[in-house]
Amino acid sequence: MPPFARLFAAMFILAALLAGCERNNTPDLQKAELFVFGTLVEITVSGEDASTADRAFAAINADFRRMHRDWHAWEPGPLTELNRAVARGEPAKVLPSLVPIIEQSQRLYRSSNGLFNPAIGQLLQLWGFQSNEPPNGPPPPAEEIAALVAQDPGMDDIVLENGVLVSDNTAVQMDFGAFAKGYAIDLAIARLRDMGIENAIVNAGGDLIAIGTKGGRPWRVGVRHPQGEGILAALDVNDNESVFTSGNYERFREYEGVHYTHILDPRTGYPVEGVTSVTVIAETGALADAAATALVVAGPEQWHETARRMGIRQAMLVTEEGTVHISPAMAERVHFNQPAPELRVSSPL
Ligand code: AMP
Ligand code: MG
Repeated sequence: MPPFARLFAAMFILAALLAGCERNNTPDLQKAELFVFGTLVEITVSGEDASTADRAFAAINADFRRMHRDWHAWEPGPLTELNRAVARGEPAKVLPSLVPIIEQSQRLYRSSNGLFNPAIGQLLQLWGFQSNEPPNGPPPPAEEIAALVAQDPGMDDIVLENGVLVSDNTAVQMDFGAFAKGYAIDLAIARLRDMGIENAIVNAGGDLIAIGTKGGRPWRVGVRHPQGEGILAALDVNDNESVFTSGNYERFREYEGVHYTHILDPRTGYPVEGVTSVTVIAETGALADAAATALVVAGPEQWHETARRMGIRQAMLVTEEGTVHISPAMAERVHFNQPAPELRVSSPL
């Protein structure tokens, strides 16, 4: 064989070997995209055949559609019906699928000291955030806001026993917008596990839960940029970790140059100011989602105490000035894109 032919043969064998390696190292990924809860949800499964993955995607799709219908805060359905009974001061039977979501939200309401308060549906409606369209026009009248705040609706006003709910406060109107996505992804992960799938990630626009690995390596994800474009940092997600971000850029009302975010401080009835985003890592999606919202309300002065109360160890809060307040456990594992922001590492949570 002439030397150049031998060289070609050697290169061919090397290329074939590398290609083989490449195949071994690249896990089989199966992906599906669903549009629910107003966002695109991407499900990725690693190391399963296409038919197993497809069955899981179909089951999750059906689950998500049901949740969307049952939990919707303003489209007529089981939750709006329940809220109407509460407003009339009447006891009402609760759809079984709503029971755990109400109970979990009551626990999270208490541990957040009321900063996560899904009973403020009337305030959200008044501000125009119970709508598929971004609200416009001036903010609602101050007297109407004050009147609702004075009625002090909270998840503690509700008693749920044997599937029947009563509230001693008719101002309570449940809206699970702040943690339904987290709770839904928890259920999607449970569904995957039930089907024997151990390696997957369910990602709803940067809010996600991962289980197992991506072909033996941790799932690497981006932490959303507070301004809503691109990513701020990268992170390796361990088995069964939830990463959720709440931000003032997602939905807001803009009037005469003022930006009113969709996250309200239940103590004042007004949109939170000064916080651009909060990212939380926790053991469940419901907790991570509720805590991310609660820490936005808590702000730079109270985020640390609120995270502690909620049992969160990994959190970061980005202020409107761009300062990143971060817990040591979170700082250890987040890789910021350059130029890195100014970090204020807190005492451990
Ligand atoms: P998230 O993106 O998870 O922070 O959820 C924000 C959504 O939760 C808003 O669009 C409202 O529907 C609702 N919300 C706003 N403020 C609060 C609050 N303080 N507690 C509970 N839910 C809230
Ligand atoms: Mg949330």
